[in-house]
Amino acid sequence: LSLSQFPLGRRLPCDIYWHGVSFHDNDIFSGQVNKFPGMTEMVRKITLSRAVRTMQDLFPLEYNFYPRSWILPEEFSLFVDQVRMMKDSDPAWKPTFIVKPDGGCQGDGIYLIKDPSDIRLTGSVQSRPAVVQEYICKPLLVDKLKFDIRLYVLLKSLEPLEIYIAKDGLSRFCTEPYQEPTLKNLHQVFMHLTNYSLNIHSGNFIHSDSVSTGSKRTFSSILCRLSSRGADVKKLWSDIISLVIKTIIALTPELKVYYQSDIPVGKPGPTCFQILGFDILLMKNLKPMLLEVNANPSMRIEHEQELSPGVFGNVPSPVDEEVKVAVIRDTLRLVDPQKKKRKEGHLAGQHMVSYKNKVNVKSNYFMCYRCQALEHISEADEELLDTGQADRPGYDSAGSPEADLPSLCLKQVFPKYAKQFNYLRLVDRVAALFIRFLGVKGTTKLGPTGFRTFIRNCKLSNSSFSMASVDILYIDITRRWNSMGIEHKESGMCLQAFVEAFFCLAQKKYKSLPLHEQVALLIDFCEYHLAALDEKRLVCGRG
Ligand code: ADP
Repeated sequence: LSLSQFPLGRRLPCDIYWHGVSFHDNDIFSGQVNKFPGMTEMVRKITLSRAVRTMQDLFPLEYNFYPRSWILPEEFSLFVDQVRMMKDSDPAWKPTFIVKPDGGCQGDGIYLIKDPSDIRLTGSVQSRPAVVQEYICKPLLVDKLKFDIRLYVLLKSLEPLEIYIAKDGLSRFCTEPYQEPTLKNLHQVFMHLTNYSLNIHSGNFIHSDSVSTGSKRTFSSILCRLSSRGADVKKLWSDIISLVIKTIIALTPELKVYYQSDIPVGKPGPTCFQILGFDILLMKNLKPMLLEVNANPSMRIEHEQELSPGVFGNVPSPVDEEVKVAVIRDTLRLVDPQKKKRKEGHLAGQHMVSYKNKVNVKSNYFMCYRCQALEHISEADEELLDTGQADRPGYDSAGSPEADLPSLCLKQVFPKYAKQFNYLRLVDRVAALFIRFLGVKGTTKLGPTGFRTFIRNCKLSNSSFSMASVDILYIDITRRWNSMGIEHKESGMCLQAFVEAFFCLAQKKYKSLPLHEQVALLIDFCEYHLAALDEKRLVCGRG
């Protein structure tokens, strides 16, 4: 594999495009790109919270791994009212909240509050939308310190959905011993925020050459410790896998809308894959909670250090190398176009050999290094994460370029566990209906005519639900969504608004059932009528 940089764009087509920040290049007609269109937008704090909330409305128990969140400024009064109600019903509840500016990163602009009235409504929140979230007061501590986990996840394909999780991740530590939040310690960022970019500035930050000590460690080293204390590490892994799959299921509907807009079906275009960084906090009872998803996780394997007074330089960071080199190496192996060709019976070419040599040297070294930390969890891990023969070394016939590479650190979890999670993919099916009625390719919003056609073709209008009421529903919901301060380059109904309208229709049609059943029934109803219509058209066409 030859790698070249094209800071100003490139002329010849490539097999794999590795973009630094986000997907946006209309001149790619083939190959694979390491970013999905719309991913950066989807994982912003507000969009992620909305997407998870839609799933929480349908499946509250399955989605209780995300802290209760409100969007500011638009839900400020809802936040105040709900907190007051919860306090009234449980006077012992003494919550803390964390306010996070939308689109912020590295802990930027984040602060803790004890009461909704503490929100600085002046200026910043009004001009800078944010998410306010219930603060997890009882995190799991190691060495008396709060820490979070960064896990790397490869979304290899959206359709069909393919997800891989890296067997090891990073644990990033605070640098002040943790205490539950009080008015006195709320502002102590080194105690409450685990961001590396913040804690690095604390005098207590420890750079360590060992992966199991210091302020940044491997997640596997934490698991080793937990396991030696008798914790059920197997269950923890399966909870983490389930959190990752459910989060991606919440993101896929809107991603598909972006995808068809940027890469319309039938037109030449690339396929996409993406490495995502999942930030997860473990609660004291070992329940993993999702903090956020990063579309552009840092892949740096060096850190800055003061080499001599006043002189800074980059030095290798063993813990970062340990985890990240394997993620990149395996991603390239999984998306390797040569591998696909070999599977299809072609011969491996020279390219592949040089790819192997290039990536192998470092990773082999670090895989050996990894093995010790992973040894005793490997059994549980393999059982949970094993993807079968396809991921094993030796899958490629002897003498193939991959035969002497270490086994994959990225383990397939979807479709492997699809059966357990497919029932959650209702909004995906709603999105498929939405996309069908978008009409002109390349748009992301549904016009009033498209919405009417949807109602008509799915036979949703009747004597008690006239076409006039359909228009009112369209206008009401669309207007509200378009006034929420979300960017709206196009006018019309966005997917989220369509989903809301769809839920309304489902509730109207199938009264007194749980929402997810109402929605599932309405989807079946629509799909049935559309299939009948397609059949009719096919017959007419033939005729
Ligand atoms: P950023 O993108 O700015 O890093 P995060 O959502 O990751 O924002 O939050 C920054 C840090 O704040 C996290 O790494 C974590 O330590 C802490 N944090 C965030 N949300 C919560 C929460 N709900 N409960 C407890 N700690 C949290």
